[in-house]
Amino acid sequence: MADGARAKAGAGSYPLICLNATTRPSVSSCWRFSSSCSGLSRASTFSIAFDAKKDADGRDEPGHDDVGELPLKAVLSALLVTMTISTAQAQSLPGGFVYLRDIDPTIIQDIRYATPNNFVGRPLAGYGAGECVVKRDVGLRLKAVQQDLAAQNLSLKMFDCYRPARASLDMVRWSQNGHETAADRRYNPHIAKSELFRLGYIASRSQHSTGAALDLTLVDLKADNSARIDPAKSYADCTAPVAARLPEGSVDMGTGYDCTDAMGHTAAPSITPEQRAWRRRLVAAMAKQGFVNYSKEWWHFSLPGAGGAAYDFPIQPRTR
Ligand SMILES: [Zn+2]
Repeated sequence: MADGARAKAGAGSYPLICLNATTRPSVSSCWRFSSSCSGLSRASTFSIAFDAKKDADGRDEPGHDDVGELPLKAVLSALLVTMTISTAQAQSLPGGFVYLRDIDPTIIQDIRYATPNNFVGRPLAGYGAGECVVKRDVGLRLKAVQQDLAAQNLSLKMFDCYRPARASLDMVRWSQNGHETAADRRYNPHIAKSELFRLGYIASRSQHSTGAALDLTLVDLKADNSARIDPAKSYADCTAPVAARLPEGSVDMGTGYDCTDAMGHTAAPSITPEQRAWRRRLVAAMAKQGFVNYSKEWWHFSLPGAGGAAYDFPIQPRTR
């Protein structure tokens, strides 16, 4: 949550999405995403290839020997193109975004905003699936980080990647709803919920929506990471010792994820030397691939130059 960087993400109006933009294989209908709508491009390519095969026979116009065949071909062509578009649309992502799982399935994912286990206490708007969606270049760099970590029996664990713009607005609405529960305070024990927006911890624009930001941690693959969140249990707040906090199946960074507190600052003096060493190890591993940590959140990293326009397409299940 406490993503001060999101307040700096100066996006204009959010682009329309490609997924529901058209049912025709028209690249132009993807206006702002003409180079990025991979699914539609594939559909268009298929359509062109099929037509080219017809043209190779010199039959731009139906020939007399094709009477009775062309209607069937035309029907099959239309059916195949329609099926191809449908399949492609199910997986196509605008803006050069991809599913991280398609690039590196070994990176552990726990997309908390797709679950009730976050500061809002329910899935956020736009999180239709717990999938990490990233810009392709960002994903390839994460894969390189993961390869380095694998040699040390460590793994990345993604908490949040691309965030639909509507989710940030959902956070704003939550912060202003006038109610505050003990569960709400678990992630911001020392700051009133109503102050989160004013202080910049919650903003209506997020760097995550541009694809340039990631929330993540490290997992020690040799450790026992089997503890699971018990919805019936009342956990201590995010600054409590790790055994009392909500279990996250990752190394002890000194606070839980999304902890809006001075202890969550990467260089916080109040954490143990071992916790500090883990944070430094994460920052160093990410820095090797060009990622920059946000000093007030040990879990938040961005890739300079990777952002741009903010997006609002919902995260949908990966189907292949
Ligand atoms: Zn973040």
